[in-house]
Amino acid sequence: MAEKRDYYEVLGVSREVETVALKAAYRRLAMQHHPDRNPDNHEAEAKFKEAAEAYQILSDPERRAHYDRFGHEGPQMGGGFSDMGDVFSAFSDIFGDMFGGGRGGGRGQARGADIQTELSITLVEAASGVTKEVNLRRREPCPTCDGSGAAPGTSPETCRHCGGRGQVMHAQGFLRIATTCPICRGEGKVIRKRCPTCDGSGVGHKDEKLQVGVPAGVEDGATLRLVGRGEAPPEARPGNLYVVLHVEADPRFERDGADLHTEVSVSFPQAALGDRVMVPVLTADPATDGKDTSAAPLDKGESGTGPETEIEIPAGTQPGALVILRGRGLPRVDGRGTGNLVVHVKLVVPTTLSADEEEHLRAYAAAGGQRVNPERSGFFKRKKKK
Ligand SMILES: [Zn+2]
Ligand SMILES: [Zn+2]
Repeated sequence: MAEKRDYYEVLGVSREVETVALKAAYRRLAMQHHPDRNPDNHEAEAKFKEAAEAYQILSDPERRAHYDRFGHEGPQMGGGFSDMGDVFSAFSDIFGDMFGGGRGGGRGQARGADIQTELSITLVEAASGVTKEVNLRRREPCPTCDGSGAAPGTSPETCRHCGGRGQVMHAQGFLRIATTCPICRGEGKVIRKRCPTCDGSGVGHKDEKLQVGVPAGVEDGATLRLVGRGEAPPEARPGNLYVVLHVEADPRFERDGADLHTEVSVSFPQAALGDRVMVPVLTADPATDGKDTSAAPLDKGESGTGPETEIEIPAGTQPGALVILRGRGLPRVDGRGTGNLVVHVKLVVPTTLSADEEEHLRAYAAAGGQRVNPERSGFFKRKKKK
């Protein structure tokens, strides 16, 4: 996380602010940056959490005094929210009436767990955007025992060890200490005969398939958040589904954000005299790629195949020169245009020469008045014999 802003500054209040004004300031910010009003707005979400953290500390007289003395660096400052649901549960008094109570279940109640799953897509799919099926495993009450954990025909019994209280008392000197009942682990009930399906846990699993739209331009490791598609226990707000994306590497390209880089090898005569050469492109564009050798999508694992387009190598091109194909990269995920395809021109120097080639190369050097090492000839011959 970046450097923390001053909590008073976050809430826009003076250091002498009274409880009522503090609450009003936070309420105003919370409404402004509320996720219901700013769906999928990460900046609003960050501000919403930041304000919640500031209010969490400043609304507590002890923690506020501590913060006033030591600032963010103080020991045991703690605080902060990683999850939006925690914000709602922490300040249910603030959010309870914010939206007029017209939201049915309402905020501040229990919230289902988040589910995380992974999805692999190809670079081509990342460029165009794609709808793919993900597999989810949701928790639900075990269908055999209806969530009780007890075998059919039986039901959980009151724990005899603790009398159903879930706690047992121990005498320790003058003290009587309550500890969690070791028999029922605090549940107050024990299962004599476990449900064979869930082995007593009461939890079942349901596998589900879900179509997920992946926006164009996503990067490897990006996470999609599908609000409300997580665990949905009864009487609670559903959790979120997080889909971690893996964008498979494409051997033809190096990716740098929205830009793609690729390499093309040319010979010295091609660089000196100019030529037209084929370079790989991510997706063929029929309008401009008149000479595409293949419009077929890249087959996984087959490097060197896929659509290509022709580019011009101007006469006098230097090694390492860049030819930039504007707009032939990936779209930016924020919708601000498309990246470029950057072709790096590599000059290939032959490691072997035929006698004929060597003779012409020496003639070329002589014509330019260049001295070349006569011993080099021996180098090539020795190399060939090996
Ligand atoms: Zn017990
Ligand atoms: Zn069961």
